[in-house]
Amino acid sequence: RPPRPRIAAAIRVVPDFPKPGIMFQDITTLLLDPEAFKTLSTCSLSVTLTWTSRWSQVRIEARGFIFGPPIALAIGAKFVPLRKPKKLPGEVISENYDLEYGSDCLQMHVGAVQPGERVLIVDDLVATGGTLRAAISLLERVGAEVVECACVIELPELKGRERLDGKPLYILVESH
Ligand code: IMP
Repeated sequence: RPPRPRIAAAIRVVPDFPKPGIMFQDITTLLLDPEAFKTLSTCSLSVTLTWTSRWSQVRIEARGFIFGPPIALAIGAKFVPLRKPKKLPGEVISENYDLEYGSDCLQMHVGAVQPGERVLIVDDLVATGGTLRAAISLLERVGAEVVECACVIELPELKGRERLDGKPLYILVESH
């Protein structure tokens, strides 16, 4: 199989999780397939290696953490977790954002990213784009330059891409 169909085929779709009507894209089955996981890391790497000099990676918990280490280790980039409240022990900066029902919050350690640093934001999936948008805004508040966002899966019908303030979005698989 060519690389991207192989990645797509390894993602399991679970209907009605976590609630009725949601078709949940489950990437844990991708992780059970070492060849597909390796292909994904290689595809991501080929993009990120085109970057220049100083840059960092920021990832959103928790599935966003899975896809970063192979790339970060390969190019010697720093890894900065963005986490849900009450997970990070140090001083944090917070970004609240609205969900379809209710709201949520992302936090990052103060000082983890310096002004002017070039950042790639990674998550497993972009749906409405609300989470990535919150991450962009948090990073811009500390003076970082968000160069690109990258996700394994995009749900294009939800048009999350349009909410990213014009930042490029790199994805490997579209799910309909
Ligand atoms: P958004 O903020 O609406 O773009 O939703 C994206 C966030 O929700 C990401 O952090 C995803 O991890 C999570 N998410 C939403 N739907 C799914 C899914 O089907 N599978 C895995 N994660 C999902």
